[in-house]
Amino acid sequence: TGNQPASDCLFCKIVAGELPADVVASTERIVAFRDIDPKAPVHVLVVPREHHGDVSVLAAADPELLAEVVEVADRVAHDLADGQYRFIFNSGPRAGQSVFHVHGHVIAGAQLGWSPA
Ligand code: 5GP
Ligand code: ZN
Repeated sequence: TGNQPASDCLFCKIVAGELPADVVASTERIVAFRDIDPKAPVHVLVVPREHHGDVSVLAAADPELLAEVVEVADRVAHDLADGQYRFIFNSGPRAGQSVFHVHGHVIAGAQLGWSPA
């Protein structure tokens, strides 16, 4: 099912501690770690420990967990930056999704431009 660890999933391996990551926040259900290729001074990925493919699947399966993802994102933005931030889900390859384990991008720490495409 969507809740089982996917053996070939990069973020399941990070959640399991099988691959290293620079973790900045952690709860029972969520891990947040720095993006390996940051697009801003603060660029953190907020990742539910459970495997769900994208935010659309997560929203349908567990809206409370999605709400907790947003709470952790907000806390990270206040802890690591000034609390002003963008929170982005890429959902689907055409939207730029490349890792198919749901994650939100916290982008902060700079004046941000806006060029989504
Ligand atoms: P997406 O394009 O799926 O929305 O975002 C995937 C993000 O994961 C990208 O910003 C990429 O830089 C990041 N990423 C890919 N591989 C790794 C990794 O091994 N470790 C970390 N920390 N980030 C990764
Ligand atoms: Zn996964």
